[in-house]
Amino acid sequence: MTYENSLQFARSQDHNDSLQTFRERFYIPQVNGKDAIYLCGNSLGLQPKSVRAALEQELLDWQNLGVEGHFQGKNPWFRYHELFSEKEARIVGAQPAEVIVMNNLTTNLHLLLVSFYQPTPERYRIITEAGAFPSDQYALETQVKFHGFHPEEAILELKPRPGECNLRTADIEAAIAENAHSVALILMGGLNYYTGQVFDLAAITKAGHAAGALVGFDLAHAAGNVLLSLHEWEVDFAVWCTYKYLNSGPGGVGAAFVHEKHAHNPDLPRFAGWWGHNPEERFQMKKGFKPMAGAAGWQLSNGAILTMAAHKAALDIFDEAGMPALRAKSEQLTGYLEFLIQEMGLSATQLQIITPAEPTARGCQLSLLVHQNGRALFEKLTAAGVILDWREPNVIRVAPVPLYNSFEDVFCFAEILRKSWTELEQASTKGLVAPANTSDQSS
Ligand SMILES: *Cc1c(COP(=O)(O)O)cnc(C)c1O
Repeated sequence: MTYENSLQFARSQDHNDSLQTFRERFYIPQVNGKDAIYLCGNSLGLQPKSVRAALEQELLDWQNLGVEGHFQGKNPWFRYHELFSEKEARIVGAQPAEVIVMNNLTTNLHLLLVSFYQPTPERYRIITEAGAFPSDQYALETQVKFHGFHPEEAILELKPRPGECNLRTADIEAAIAENAHSVALILMGGLNYYTGQVFDLAAITKAGHAAGALVGFDLAHAAGNVLLSLHEWEVDFAVWCTYKYLNSGPGGVGAAFVHEKHAHNPDLPRFAGWWGHNPEERFQMKKGFKPMAGAAGWQLSNGAILTMAAHKAALDIFDEAGMPALRAKSEQLTGYLEFLIQEMGLSATQLQIITPAEPTARGCQLSLLVHQNGRALFEKLTAAGVILDWREPNVIRVAPVPLYNSFEDVFCFAEILRKSWTELEQASTKGLVAPANTSDQSS
């Protein structure tokens, strides 16, 4: 596609966008009495207007039925998790029985590590990406210690080559092969939250299996953002949250995937609860855990219906739009953002996009590494009504989300970025802003 740096071009793209009307189904946050330019769906997706009615339905059933809502509610709570199977499965490319909506992301990661990280004195290593999201780092560190191993010895973190920002697939494959005698598990983000790099999950899974390891992914930033085929790729397990690209509200319910090949294996260790027990016998309250088939067998507790209701409303919208259409728009929207930033003509020592340029290696997020006055730039953007996020020491993440962001949003953001950049440059030549980013590093 040939892009143009004009408001008219952006508006004509929006006009021709088949997903354009979805924006109206979301509340756009207000800044200074105007719609904000919201480019932070990677952190917290916007509220679908339909969430309120979905919550009210459950409040009403609780109000009118009390405990009977478990069986007589409009959406009986006893089977509430089943409402998600098909749609959640389409998000990650799974079979319905392979996915379950439950708990929160980090809880689910721990539960699945209990099942899929079974180290032995010979095979105990976990291969992961350096700079993984902190919750994942802490989960791995404490799991390794729980099994009596030392994190420095057992966790192998892969770093990009010197001078590069992203990991090469060939280097990941080589590291896995080199550790084939000692690696028990590969656990990586599907999309690194900091750089925005999408890993080649199919290739990594293949390499992991060839080395005799199991392979799991944290899809927090990938679910609802990029096309996934977890079943076909034979990924062993995965976890994700629903409040980022999936718009299900702060602290919203998490989700998990367990490949069919593991679903019927009673020998897998697991930490069980009554909601993972065979539902026919659940209320007999008998001894002896009998897991439900599929990912549902990892459930612990009865569902958190109020957060699940928000997810239900959000997922319905997602399913209506469909991942293929969303992904097609996403590539264009992110490409437009990249084009407009390039139009600013800055050198890599001023402002560098550290997200891969290759569309298959990124989602809708671009991470801008700002070498000077990054924090000041971020604050100017915020003051001008742009909502995005800052990651220490000097990265601004910008995420145009195809479900509710427009080409006009991206164009207006780029205009504000250009103006803010120029103002800061002028101020620093007058000595009004400290030229180096030393203050950024320490804050
Ligand atoms: C957002 C995110 C989390 C957050 O975990 P919660 O348990 O939902 O608080 C964890 N891991 C990654 C990779 C994330 O991006």
